[in-house]
Amino acid sequence: MKQKTLVTSAWPYVHSLPHLGNLVGSILSADVFARYSRLKGEDVVMVSGSDEHGTPVEVESVRLGVSPKVITDRNHAKIVALLKAWGISFDNYTRTENPVHKEFVQKLLMEIYERGYIFAQETEMLYCEECSRFLPDRYVEGKCPYCGYERARGDQCENCGRLLETTLLIEPYCAICKSKPVTRQTKHWYFDLPKLSEQITKYLLSNQQLASSTKNFSINFVKEGLKPRAVTRDVSWGIQAPFPGAENKSIYVWVEAVLGYVSATIEYFMNRGEPDGWKEYWFNKEARTYYFIGKDNIPFHTIILPALLLASGENYNLPWQVSATEWLQFKGLKASKSQKVGIWMDEALELFPADYWRYFLIATRPETKDSNFSWDVFIERINADLNDTFGNFVHRTLTFVNSKFDGIVPQTSPSDSDSIQVLKTLGEKVQTVTRELEACKLQSAANTIISVSRVGNQYLNEKEPWNLIKKDKEQAASIFSVAIRFVKALAVTSSPFIPHTAQELWTTLNLSGKVEEKNWDEALKPLPLGHRIQKATPLFKKIEDSPEELAEKLERVREKLGKTV
Ligand SMILES: [Zn+2]
Ligand SMILES: [Zn+2]
Repeated sequence: MKQKTLVTSAWPYVHSLPHLGNLVGSILSADVFARYSRLKGEDVVMVSGSDEHGTPVEVESVRLGVSPKVITDRNHAKIVALLKAWGISFDNYTRTENPVHKEFVQKLLMEIYERGYIFAQETEMLYCEECSRFLPDRYVEGKCPYCGYERARGDQCENCGRLLETTLLIEPYCAICKSKPVTRQTKHWYFDLPKLSEQITKYLLSNQQLASSTKNFSINFVKEGLKPRAVTRDVSWGIQAPFPGAENKSIYVWVEAVLGYVSATIEYFMNRGEPDGWKEYWFNKEARTYYFIGKDNIPFHTIILPALLLASGENYNLPWQVSATEWLQFKGLKASKSQKVGIWMDEALELFPADYWRYFLIATRPETKDSNFSWDVFIERINADLNDTFGNFVHRTLTFVNSKFDGIVPQTSPSDSDSIQVLKTLGEKVQTVTRELEACKLQSAANTIISVSRVGNQYLNEKEPWNLIKKDKEQAASIFSVAIRFVKALAVTSSPFIPHTAQELWTTLNLSGKVEEKNWDEALKPLPLGHRIQKATPLFKKIEDSPEELAEKLERVREKLGKTV
């Protein structure tokens, strides 16, 4: 029985396009991991979708005077096209407006309600008399009661990551008209999280995969005391609440976005005509579920999602691994549309091919501390790593085989100790990449792959086969038989990271089919006897622009795309 692996990424909020920070933490990380898992021969399903409901879209629709769906239809279509251009290999990228999702959320919440984990209660909510509406979540902003951050949103503080209630904000103001709200009575339905504290702690302690920082953060979070969390909202844009007496309420968006992982799997198998297929991923205890997210999303995946699944009493699989990244910052700041800080996924592709970004983002993935984007580092990584190391090694090897051996891979097996040693190193490095990928240490894995080509380059520099060939063709042939094994290993192992380039390399090696559909073990298998490769062309182009020129180009791209960012 093949390993069932569900790979998910946080649902991008469709209010705007994902920026590089969203990509590196969730979407791109999930893609690299899913591609690697497929190469290992696992049954992988990778899902996510556009998170459409919630107050930011509604707030904007009020401001623009259009229906919220006009905004989400447009942005969802854009995101779908861009994900394809980035080479993101979702099996199902769906949206929260899809009927399968709505039906699943209502059904699961009713189960939780009937099992006594959801209760109704009168409560005081902030109300804007200017706008004549309640102010849930992002309809209100103010000062964080925990860290003092001035622009905390009603649902969560961006700065310290804590979940908030609007009534906790100090000096709150209406996000639409900026006026000071009053409090009013309303009735809401609450998820009884405290009832599940013990079960969640047990789950957290038993999970051996979670990074210790994620695990400790979550355990402390539970220890500080969980509070019941409202699952309904006084808004019209969303999923109708299914509880008796909740006719004018919508489901609060935090509930449905995490449940989308399940509904997206259901929808995927429905579309394949296998309506029960999803159960293999959600109930079979051998299956593994992976979640790739930014650190602000940790409590939703290590506490709230497990709590919802536990409360249903249906024995769902709880998250096997939650891989959370720190933040990718820009000039020390978090990406922000309003402050013109950051680079968005559409802009990036106007400047460089997807693989340049994919490599750069994963090779600098903020795994232990926040990282800072700069054009200097970008240029350095692309030029030094991709162009001068990976690209140069592959190109010199392939062009030499083309010109000196008529494109036929030399088969002489090396007998000198250097060559035997360097092949041993290759084997060890591939093992290291494997170990790093298994542990979701994607940043190290990307850098180890570059070091494979660095070792290959050093080997060629020391052996100087271009001189050797003049006196000893046999010896030179043996060196290239080694080098070409490095090239093949690079084609396979780099494929989760830079899939377009890896395929180009695979084709130049004159190997059939798609490298992404082959097996990870192919990395260390030599090419067949008498194999002929194709003519090589350089895989990358050196960046000649200065950091200042690139910053200017980005400005022009923004103008061209007609963006107000
Ligand atoms: Zn805070
Ligand atoms: Zn207002």
